[in-house]
Amino acid sequence: MNISEEIKNLINLDLEQRFLRYVQIDTQANPNHTGPKPSSQGQITLLRLLQEELQELKLEAVEYDPEGYVYATLPASNGLRTEPLTLLAHVDTAPDCSGSNVKPRVIRSYQGQDINYPDDQELILSPKGHPSLNSCIGDDLIVASGRTLLGTDDKAGVTEIMTLARVLIENPKIDHPEIRICFTTDEEIGQGVKNINKDRLSRYCLTLDAGEPGELEYECFDAWSFSILFSGISTHPGTAYNRMINAITAASAFLNELPFTERPETTKDRDGFYHPVEIHGDLQSATLRGIIRDFNSKKNEERLKKITEIALQLEKRWPGLKIKTEFKRQYRNMGEILKSETEFLDLCRHGIRAVGLEPIETPIRGGTDGALLSFEGFPCPNLASGQAAIHSKLEWTSIGRMSKCVETLIQICRLQSTSK
Ligand SMILES: [Zn+2]
Repeated sequence: MNISEEIKNLINLDLEQRFLRYVQIDTQANPNHTGPKPSSQGQITLLRLLQEELQELKLEAVEYDPEGYVYATLPASNGLRTEPLTLLAHVDTAPDCSGSNVKPRVIRSYQGQDINYPDDQELILSPKGHPSLNSCIGDDLIVASGRTLLGTDDKAGVTEIMTLARVLIENPKIDHPEIRICFTTDEEIGQGVKNINKDRLSRYCLTLDAGEPGELEYECFDAWSFSILFSGISTHPGTAYNRMINAITAASAFLNELPFTERPETTKDRDGFYHPVEIHGDLQSATLRGIIRDFNSKKNEERLKKITEIALQLEKRWPGLKIKTEFKRQYRNMGEILKSETEFLDLCRHGIRAVGLEPIETPIRGGTDGALLSFEGFPCPNLASGQAAIHSKLEWTSIGRMSKCVETLIQICRLQSTSK
């Protein structure tokens, strides 16, 4: 079913006004924060603003949760009794790049040119490095000023959910199931769904946190962290013969045993890796920390075994050396759950096709809040929000990209309201 020009105009206008308002609030997550969520005051400011705006839109059960959430419910249209749908987006921005005093700029009717930045003469956003710009000719781009990120990750998603709510309220003829809205905090520091109120979620959820319109992500890494403690034996170097066991040497011997062909810098697509991220120590004791990643959990289990085997071999080579290994599961590949949710994935695919896009289904070489939710009984794929060049001063999006994402949601709502 087509979306009328009148509704498309409303979407464009509403998206722009909201997005410009939200990105000017500094919601950068603070990785050094200790204590309760959220990790920065700005996130509370934006949550409170969203709470007010949801109340003005007359959504039901609008709730500010001090655990770092805002929830709201939009009842199903015309008393429809289909499965509700929960939409999630995070209000925080990445710690990697400043989010304070963001000055968004709208570039009307983009013509494919390079974009310059007033606050950083060196910076250039060019279709050469960012080919998706080529599909935005005639569109209104939004970029930052060169000193900060823009905040498209994930204020684009937040904005789209708000715009969708307004469009559905003002156009009661568009069929939709009950929509549950959940804005989260501190996603960028791995706390996105900590203490989330599961009573406010529904059987099916969607995060709006992918990039290109049309993206449908339902696979992510299976993720472990490891920590290895090497304990050596120290002696005077002059009398070390056959007695000293150097923990630094042991740690470096360990690293040499890890296959170099399985590192982040030597793998792509569906291949997994070992990734040492931190090492420190002295003659007596050394600690090595790292992570392992793969889409296939069995392959990660083999990696854990390999780490244990290398440790045993080294202990045999240097009697007296002690190696203690510790492994921690971080998150699992949500594909294990979502691949069997064919009906829901098909509904998303139909929604994407209904706005003239072809679904882009690439596995995420990382994690997502949806992974944790999926394993807790809330299957949660990730859809596009139109964010681009994320976590950098070049972050950008466009009104056209964001409106495609809202239109996709409208189509998914329509389809969901006709399913059983
Ligand atoms: Zn994000």
